[in-house]
Amino acid sequence: MSTSPGHTVDQVPVTTLPDGHQLALTVHTVTGAAPGPRIVWLGGVHGDEPLGPETVRRALAEIDPAQLSGTVTAVPVANPLALQALSRNTPVDGINLNRIFPGNRGGSVTEQIAAVLCEIIAGADHLIDFHSGGNFATVEYSYLHEPGAEMSRAYGCSLLYQHASYVGSATDWALQQGIGAMVSELGGGGQRIDHYLDKGVAGTLNVLRTLKMLPGEPTPPPADQSIITTLRILQPAVGGVLQSDYGADRIGERIPQGTVLGRILSPYTFEELEVLTAPFEPSILVLARESVTNVLPGEYGYMVADGATATPA
Ligand SMILES: [Zn+2]
Repeated sequence: MSTSPGHTVDQVPVTTLPDGHQLALTVHTVTGAAPGPRIVWLGGVHGDEPLGPETVRRALAEIDPAQLSGTVTAVPVANPLALQALSRNTPVDGINLNRIFPGNRGGSVTEQIAAVLCEIIAGADHLIDFHSGGNFATVEYSYLHEPGAEMSRAYGCSLLYQHASYVGSATDWALQQGIGAMVSELGGGGQRIDHYLDKGVAGTLNVLRTLKMLPGEPTPPPADQSIITTLRILQPAVGGVLQSDYGADRIGERIPQGTVLGRILSPYTFEELEVLTAPFEPSILVLARESVTNVLPGEYGYMVADGATATPA
């Protein structure tokens, strides 16, 4: 990898697949003209979240190495096999990459990907992991961790989720190394795509200004930015068709407890199988679904935060 200012692209080998192809991770390195911190961006940790790779692509295109202090190391597609299958987990071993860090260089494909990503992240100062809702769900918040809280505030989401990082996630591993880390959860479900991409790119550049990696005054966080500490995933116990009253345009709304968010219907008999209601007074909508989507038992139906315990950031 070059140390003179510019943008290079490298292939980092992972393993040989049984079909004879070499699995490698594509790593972009933007080296700034001035010294400074190193930030790592990950996209596509989950293969059903295409906004992560695209946010990385668009944000990289906005960076002029002559203006950059430090280095951006970006892996736009952290899990190529999951991306190929449009799936959250890696098809060949069924593993969720974001629960297997630090991985294992002698393990299954996903364990090896995690181990290679650790080698890429090691020694960095900051990490942003770009996620979204999956194929059918739209989401909007970022995690708030220490170290890394200044990035979450600058990223500009109205909802910051203060919570222990998930064991085995890239973020959890980075935080253990003392690397400041934030997770972006923006968009998904094929809804309001450019709105969320614009928000992600603007937030990422504002993070770089906050870290003094790019010149210019950072934009202050939105006035309504608040911290949520209780976030519940509403997972239907049955599969079927989720008929939703709350789509992407309702995210951030405060909804009275007991309000019906959606109903699971049988597409065979048309019976109502389950009703999903707002559990908190009030419930802040964080993850939503459009009017009609298929759902598996245990999938993310909605996510809501407890509005009573939300505090201004
Ligand atoms: Zn994800």
